[in-house]
Amino acid sequence: MSADTFDIQAVSDPLEPRDSDVVVANERSEFVLEVTNFSVDYGVGDNMVRAVNDVTLHLRRSKVLGIAGESGSGKSTLVYAMTRLLRAPGVISAGDVILNVTNPDNETESTSVNLVTASEKELRKVRWSHVSIVLQSALSALNPVLRVGREFDEVLKTHRPDMSKVQRRSRAAELLAMVGLNEDRLVRFPHELSGGQRQRIMIALALALDPDLVIMDEPTTALDVVTQREIISELHHLRSRFGFAMIFITHDLSLLVELADEIVVMYAGEIVERAGARELYDAPRHPYTLGLLNSFPPLHGQRRELTGIPGSPPDLSDLPQGCNFYPRCPFRMARCEHEAPALTSIENADRGVACWLHSPDSPIAVPVELSRTANPARNSAPAERSRS
Ligand code: ATP
Ligand code: MG
Repeated sequence: MSADTFDIQAVSDPLEPRDSDVVVANERSEFVLEVTNFSVDYGVGDNMVRAVNDVTLHLRRSKVLGIAGESGSGKSTLVYAMTRLLRAPGVISAGDVILNVTNPDNETESTSVNLVTASEKELRKVRWSHVSIVLQSALSALNPVLRVGREFDEVLKTHRPDMSKVQRRSRAAELLAMVGLNEDRLVRFPHELSGGQRQRIMIALALALDPDLVIMDEPTTALDVVTQREIISELHHLRSRFGFAMIFITHDLSLLVELADEIVVMYAGEIVERAGARELYDAPRHPYTLGLLNSFPPLHGQRRELTGIPGSPPDLSDLPQGCNFYPRCPFRMARCEHEAPALTSIENADRGVACWLHSPDSPIAVPVELSRTANPARNSAPAERSRS
């Protein structure tokens, strides 16, 4: 993948510019990313399906947001559309995505860019430099006919024209060292490297320009468990060292709890639960989150029976009338069939769930599986804990 191919992929048209498109410099925002009422459709007319529906999320600087959900829940569509890398027939149909980029000349200030309405020129300025993305298909994203060093050279040459060839080479070696690879890999072709090495190279490329935000779409799914754990641990160290914020997508919640500060769970294009990572893992509130947790073996701690989630995700062109999870929900009530629950704050401002069971007028008590309390002693630094 080169700087050019990264830009060519951006084919979705921007929405009409609005007032929110104005780019302003101000005191550095505590949030690096603010996504509001964001929706994405595929196709038009009768064939249109809404793959992302009314998503709102905020990411604080230097934090990791995990996005979990089964295959087809809209995770990739959300991040591709947010960064305007979505291909036709995908279109952004509503919402704003504000990226607050740190000003290079004054780190106490940031500039807001609405990625939904930004021009291609503005997008080129922020991509790689302020937001970078490791695509789901990253294992095949490296250009097979280019030596690895050329990939780094292209990105650095495009975005740091002031750097000399020697400086670019030295920066590439430094980046490889950061992800645990020897600089001799720079003269190799992608096919001469293992899957784990190629994935590390993609991560090093994403970090090349010291971005505010790095988005990783299932970067370790195709790797064996040992390599997966090594890369997760390296990402944790890199983030502590460089302070970038990260969005990390996976369907595996037990992997996510190792790395994320907060997690949102998606189902049929909507956020059904959001919470601190450990809270969500120890004390899920949505029946779907509980089902996901029971679908994967925990990496640490007590073993539990894996029950999975019966049934399959809904067809987006034929969604249930009420709650999208209704047909598969073990705790469903009459109301759920006809009325869709909205994501509502519970317990604290950062925690939300879209489920009628937690409504004050629910006719039944919240089931014990969905009312556990999280262990407060385990709420902080999940990744630190996991290395012990
Ligand atoms: P996975 O875990 O398998 O990567 P995901 O959560 O990333 O899944 P998406 O790839 O975002 O899911 O897909 C969300 C929905 O959008 C799916 O129902 C999918 O069928 C639909 N979709 C994706 N691409 C297209 C397309 N080009 N045309 C029509 N529908 C699409
Ligand atoms: Mg995906």
